[in-house]
Amino acid sequence: MSSRAATYDAIVVGAGSVGVPSAYYLAERGLRVLVIDRRPAVGQGENKAAIGGVRATHSDPAKILLCSRSLEVMRSWKERHGDEIGWKPGGYCFPVYTEAHEKALQGLLPIQRRFGLVNDWVDAETIARIVPGIRREGLRGGTYSPGDGQVSPLLLAVVLMRHAARRGAELRVGERVTQYLRDGAAVAGVRTDKGTYHAARVVVATGADAAEDGRLLGIGLPVVPDSHEAGITAPVAPFLGPLVVDLRPGPEGKTANFYFGQNHEGQIIFCYTPRQLFRGTSRESLAEFLPILAGRMIELVPRTRHLLVRRVWRGLYPMTPDGVPIVGNVPEVPGLTVAVGMCGQGFMLGIGVGQEVASLAVDGQWLLPEEAWRAIRYGRDFAGGKVEALK
Ligand SMILES: Cc1cc2nc3c(=O)[nH]c(=O)nc-3n(C[C@H](O)[C@H](O)[C@H](O)COP(=O)(O)OP(=O)(O)OC[C@H]3O[C@@H](n4cnc5c(N)ncnc54)[C@H](O)[C@@H]3O)c2cc1C
Repeated sequence: MSSRAATYDAIVVGAGSVGVPSAYYLAERGLRVLVIDRRPAVGQGENKAAIGGVRATHSDPAKILLCSRSLEVMRSWKERHGDEIGWKPGGYCFPVYTEAHEKALQGLLPIQRRFGLVNDWVDAETIARIVPGIRREGLRGGTYSPGDGQVSPLLLAVVLMRHAARRGAELRVGERVTQYLRDGAAVAGVRTDKGTYHAARVVVATGADAAEDGRLLGIGLPVVPDSHEAGITAPVAPFLGPLVVDLRPGPEGKTANFYFGQNHEGQIIFCYTPRQLFRGTSRESLAEFLPILAGRMIELVPRTRHLLVRRVWRGLYPMTPDGVPIVGNVPEVPGLTVAVGMCGQGFMLGIGVGQEVASLAVDGQWLLPEEAWRAIRYGRDFAGGKVEALK
């Protein structure tokens, strides 16, 4: 490397679910962009842990609008650009076995419809048709949102980065940002363990590590990771359209909910939220995970008992106190944009958030309406924050 520090229009720290689309949209706006990640390739942080579910059917307006935009781009990506990103339509389905869950899910429909989403309460017959082999005993019906789908997080990160690079973006991997350069209060670039890079605009998209960047910058980024486990089977003939979310606690009482779907290659991919959350950054998968999950899946859809599990893993949800991301320009540090705290939905939010980041960085403006951006803005008050009921 030359001794003269390189200068860019924008530096994105973190090449993950959010950093890569942010770089893509910044490059699309004509900026000379540098993306830096401490890992050896793009998308190797929590992006790689995600099982690829993408839904717009949330209860929070910002999440609804951001994920709707992600879906719009993902659905048509192959047609428009020719790259395989593993898009699989088929929607999301929440089968319901209790009155409480029926009320909770039906209560979300009006806000979802206000934002133009198609998510309907359907009867048990319909659920049984959409999820062949599902246990019928006690099944009350459920919600089904056909417009949602799945995408491969590994493919999308690589494809988006390739397109960003065609627009001039540079990628440096295996390089850790250790310092944010300042020009007075403003941010002026970054120092890594390998070099120094200048830019008047810096985007922090460091996922589960964001609290550390907050410390380096002297700002509050209250992101605390907790662990979630996932797995994938060998492929089988296509039988399952939607991604299925089981909200029941399970007989063992150890899981809050779990979800699974069949991806574009026929593999069943699954994940669960432990009832007792494991805070911290450990990525060592627990031996008890697979027996619990296998039991749950077989109990719900008995035909899955023949599946052959290929791999399990553990990853982190970068959580915020209110369960909603932290996005925005940082008034006390001119030039700084943050996009962190994506919780359990950073992959589906990534493209929508990337578009927001480009607009905030270049125009200083949100694309979202105020009603939506107020809930996710940097600097909001977390006191008494709620965590969205359905993660
Ligand atoms: C088991 C599991 C299943 C999931 N399933 C889904 C799902 O189906 N759908 C969904 O939407 N979400 C899902 N998620 C959540 C999703 O994975 C995360 O919300 C998302 O990946 C977070 O994106 P991010 O860009 O903030 O972080 P990341 O993708 O982790 O990117 C942050 C990057 O910053 C880099 N970095 C950090 N600090 C530095 C530094 N100082 N210098 C340089 N680089 C740095 C890291 O190496 C990392 O690559 C799942 C998560 C888990 C664990």
